[in-house]
Amino acid sequence: MTGQVKFDSHVEALLTAAVGLVNLLTPGHDGTSVVDVPTGSRRTAAVGDVLLSQGRRSRVTAADATRLGVVAGQLREVFAAADRGDLDRTAGLVNELLESTRARPRLDRFDDGWSLHFHGPDDGVVVGWSAGFASALALCVGSEYAGRLGVCAATPCDRIFVDGSKNGTRRFCGARCQSRVKAAAHRSRHT
Ligand SMILES: [Zn+2]
Repeated sequence: MTGQVKFDSHVEALLTAAVGLVNLLTPGHDGTSVVDVPTGSRRTAAVGDVLLSQGRRSRVTAADATRLGVVAGQLREVFAAADRGDLDRTAGLVNELLESTRARPRLDRFDDGWSLHFHGPDDGVVVGWSAGFASALALCVGSEYAGRLGVCAATPCDRIFVDGSKNGTRRFCGARCQSRVKAAAHRSRHT
């Protein structure tokens, strides 16, 4: 996530990881091709890569990857409800995630001091990350940035994103979908 929205860096990392997992583990379309959700060891490695990209090396097992696939489906529902503008439904889904993950805040000490992090009843890969995702989404939905959870508007793409732009006007999952829609609009004006 880039731009002007200022989430706490821990929250930003969790939201970015949530987007990465949903776009990796839920089937659909990325605008160019049908999303090929990886299986087996490819999936396990890809999940580890998403989590590592947000600063934490996690020892992911095949069973963890399967369970995170279920979590990714739940996270997608949150983004879809938010994208429809149904914030009551969004909040209800996030509350369910807070309950089911039993997420709790905790001050953790790092080199540069104490920082508020989120944990589950244990800090295993699935429970720890899922509690974090629930907490980060709760902070987002309960703030002025509630409208920042989105699903790509470039049909047939259904990849999700967090809009970190200054004006909150992002509509696409990435530059590829944006330029494809712009090019199509340009063609339709000139034919
Ligand atoms: Zn897209």
